Amino acid sequence: MKPFSADLHIHTALSPCADDNMTPPAIIKAAIKAGLQIIAICDHNSAGNAPAVIAAAKDELIVIPGIEITTSEEAHILGLFETTQAAAAVSDLILASLPNSFAGKPRGRQIVMNERGGPIRLEPHRLFLSSQYSVSGAVDLIHGHGGIAIASHVDRPSFSVLSQLGFLPPDVLFDAIEVSPAAHRAGRSSAYEATGYPVVVSSDSHFLTEIGCCRTFFSMDVCSFPGLKQAIHDRQQLILKG
Ligand SMILES: [Zn+2]
Ligand SMILES: [Zn+2]
Repeated sequence: MKPFSADLHIHTALSPCADDNMTPPAIIKAAIKAGLQIIAICDHNSAGNAPAVIAAAKDELIVIPGIEITTSEEAHILGLFETTQAAAAVSDLILASLPNSFAGKPRGRQIVMNERGGPIRLEPHRLFLSSQYSVSGAVDLIHGHGGIAIASHVDRPSFSVLSQLGFLPPDVLFDAIEVSPAAHRAGRSSAYEATGYPVVVSSDSHFLTEIGCCRTFFSMDVCSFPGLKQAIHDRQQLILKG
């Protein structure tokens, strides 16, 4: 086994709050420059741009299709999947559950792109809204599609499971919890190991310059989704680097 450098939380121009320069080829170029070997694409409430980033990567690095679900409690949960089909199936269910999702003022352009970064269409759903899936329901949905469920940026004072619920529900089995770059740089990531969950750090990039700013090394035989899943479940093999 050897360690592989991972950033498992990267947004594209599909996310309402992400920069329009977060195109598939630009993300791949920035990830390679940062020395990353495996990344995950996690847009808010959609996996619509993951296939284009995978295609843009060719064989240069591993790209995991994912989604960052906003639950009914306004907590963010990352879902990472082995296939674009599984990610799309979850994405379709989440999109269909966004209430009044065509009403209200849009935020951002929410661009669905091809692998060259060209626009295919603008996503009409308001991706910043909360889905109708609870924290428990979102984790069940992710696991039901063979995915990895990670509680996003648990240290943040908003949009995290801890900020919204006040605790990590004992009946919800996350595969890992994520600490934000700010908390990691402040030396607070190790404190979350007391939760009993594997702790990961990712960039939560909304801009190209953020890609790889924080990362986690995972020991794997082969750099792949199954290898990542196994490594997460064996917390001894996580090495955090700021
Ligand atoms: Zn988030
Ligand atoms: Zn995010």
